[in-house]
Amino acid sequence: MKIIKEYVKNKKEEIFNLVKNLDIEIKLVIIQVNNDPASDAYIRGKLKDLNEVGIKGELIKLEVNTTQDELLKLINKLNNDSTVTGFIVQMPLPKHIDEELIKRSISPDKDVDGFNVLSKFNPATPNGIVTYLKDNNYHFESKNALVIGRSNIVGRPMAEMLLKENMNVTILHSYTKKEDLKFYVEHANLIIVAVGKPHFLTNDFKFNEDTIIFDVGINRINGKLVGDCDENLNVKFQSPVPGGVGLLTRLSLILNLLEVYNNGI
Ligand code: NAP
Repeated sequence: MKIIKEYVKNKKEEIFNLVKNLDIEIKLVIIQVNNDPASDAYIRGKLKDLNEVGIKGELIKLEVNTTQDELLKLINKLNNDSTVTGFIVQMPLPKHIDEELIKRSISPDKDVDGFNVLSKFNPATPNGIVTYLKDNNYHFESKNALVIGRSNIVGRPMAEMLLKENMNVTILHSYTKKEDLKFYVEHANLIIVAVGKPHFLTNDFKFNEDTIIFDVGINRINGKLVGDCDENLNVKFQSPVPGGVGLLTRLSLILNLLEVYNNGI
């Protein structure tokens, strides 16, 4: 497996060279309806990435007392604006706004975050992981995949995507018994951990020699960013935190935008 940081850097250079020769401007709009510092940081990262590859990024930051109707009107406007290639609504939304309704109102053609169930795109995190594996010529077929966590943005779509690659897929969750967790971890070739708990996977498990792990978790311990896995697990490859799945997720958004462009929408 290529080092994720280098892989993403190379992909961004390729995209920059491609985008600079296009006759049309590619543009992403980000709608934010919160004052959440974590969201601010994610958005800064996304805008920086876009800038680096020559794609226009625009942030529309609304007051937290914006009504659901006002937000729906803006979404409708962006759905119909031909100068907008794609757009995303940064989560979380204020409590008075129905998140599911908002997700469903984004045009499936422009929903580059893959939030709408009808979206043409897979959610960014699982899509980033599968794209990376494919670019590394990973052989998926008939291998055992283990997905730990079943959220709508990571675990479930991840399992669905790996199933499409003809893997044997198991999903575990908070009701899984410890002894079953051990069994599945020790029989897996590919593990995706998206739990949100540090030290969830440690070298107490007897991993397969060929096991590859993607650590999706983001946890803070005394201000330090860590994943769900201990560092240096006895496996063939483990994605680092930071500098791992987060970078793949951000790249995935750009790849989805290019796909909207390629589809001529
Ligand atoms: P989430 O909605 O909180 O889901 C966590 C999942 O973990 C749930 O399905 C939960 O099971 C399961 N779980 C909790 N304790 C468990 C246990 N002891 N054994 C097995 N499963 C357990 O979180 P999420 O949105 O999927 O995110 C997961 C982590 O990834 C978080 O740390 C988040 O910050 C991070 N994340 C990172 C990126 C990135 O780009 N790097 C993107 C998205 C998320 P139940 O369903 O039974 O409750």
